Amino acid sequence: MASKKSPEEIAAMRRSGIILAETINRLEEAVRPGVSSAELDAVAARSISDAGAEASFHGYRGFPASICVSPNDVVVHGIPTERRLEEGDIVSLDVGVFYEGWHSDSAWTFPVGEVDAAAHDLLKVTEASLDAAIEQCGPGKHLGDVGHAVDQTATSAGFSVVREYAGHGIGRQLHENLWVPNFGPPGRRELLVAGVTLAVEPMVNLGGPETKTLADGWTVVTADGSPSAHFEHTIAITPDGCEVLTRREAR
Ligand code: MG
Ligand code: MG
Repeated sequence: MASKKSPEEIAAMRRSGIILAETINRLEEAVRPGVSSAELDAVAARSISDAGAEASFHGYRGFPASICVSPNDVVVHGIPTERRLEEGDIVSLDVGVFYEGWHSDSAWTFPVGEVDAAAHDLLKVTEASLDAAIEQCGPGKHLGDVGHAVDQTATSAGFSVVREYAGHGIGRQLHENLWVPNFGPPGRRELLVAGVTLAVEPMVNLGGPETKTLADGWTVVTADGSPSAHFEHTIAITPDGCEVLTRREAR
């Protein structure tokens, strides 16, 4: 089980999360046809450093950039490059912020210009699956309830849920020892209690659930080449429910 945080520690994580949410807002403004993933990485790096924080991912296990940029069939862990986004792409942006000793972690998938109906639905359903998971986050619930909510939301819409990657505990460490998979069974796994902080991060594919890792050792793609979406929030369990520490208030 992840370590429990005090209200003061959760307040510190909230300050990290506010910086992260603002960074996602700036990234959303920057996403457009013709922008390169390296340019998006630079937008995030500037936003994070302007706030006096550090990018959690930079140098993590040797990761060479500030954020992960994962277009189309890239599920997670895409390395920013000079490749330019095109009209009709989707792009997942995964950001970690380290501020005053505390990490926050959040991801969002954006459309690039106009996207087709299937991609639009994939984004809406993946975001809805995270919302459904958040509804299950509270004292007395189990992590199986959280994962089941993701799985039900995604599969009932005809999509599939990636099983090889999961959410995690978070706090002083980017990845604390808590496995937060995006599937059930409900009523099983760790019991949630107030003070637990976790990152919930559904990864949902338009096609099958299988993935493979490219030769760079980082980039995870769908095995069938279908598009994939990724939404993530850092969440604190509170006495009467939960608080989303990376919520984008401006939306
Ligand atoms: Mg993340
Ligand atoms: Mg994460």
